[in-house]
Amino acid sequence: MKNRVETGSLTNGPIDLVLSCVDNYSARMTVNAICNRVNQIWFESGVSESALSGHIQILVPGETGCFGCASPLAVAEGTEGTIKREGVCAASLPTTMGIIAGFLCQATLKFLLNFGTLSYCLSYNAQSDFFSSYKIAINP
Ligand SMILES: [Zn+2]
Repeated sequence: MKNRVETGSLTNGPIDLVLSCVDNYSARMTVNAICNRVNQIWFESGVSESALSGHIQILVPGETGCFGCASPLAVAEGTEGTIKREGVCAASLPTTMGIIAGFLCQATLKFLLNFGTLSYCLSYNAQSDFFSSYKIAINP
């Protein structure tokens, strides 16, 4: 993947942006390590196992915290492996995935076309229609 980030553009140069929507912490940490190594901006997204919440996060090396700077609660508590329930598909509420995908696309267009204000971390709670927006600081 490192090679793809460094030479994957149409001109064989570095790409403009990494977008991700993976389903686990270790995959995010792999993307995080590569983006940090090559100084690549990364737009991360995710939906909770219950599909009742989600987020997008914009990670700018040297400007925002990286994905490792603030571990998700389930990872910090060591319960990530216990969240997944056998036989339960996380895509059971596809509207949440659609909403988060829409925010990821909107942020991508704002970044690439240089308009509006980017939310570095935008979280959505589907049960209460609550949104929060904040910036994750670099953890020294
Ligand atoms: Zn970090």
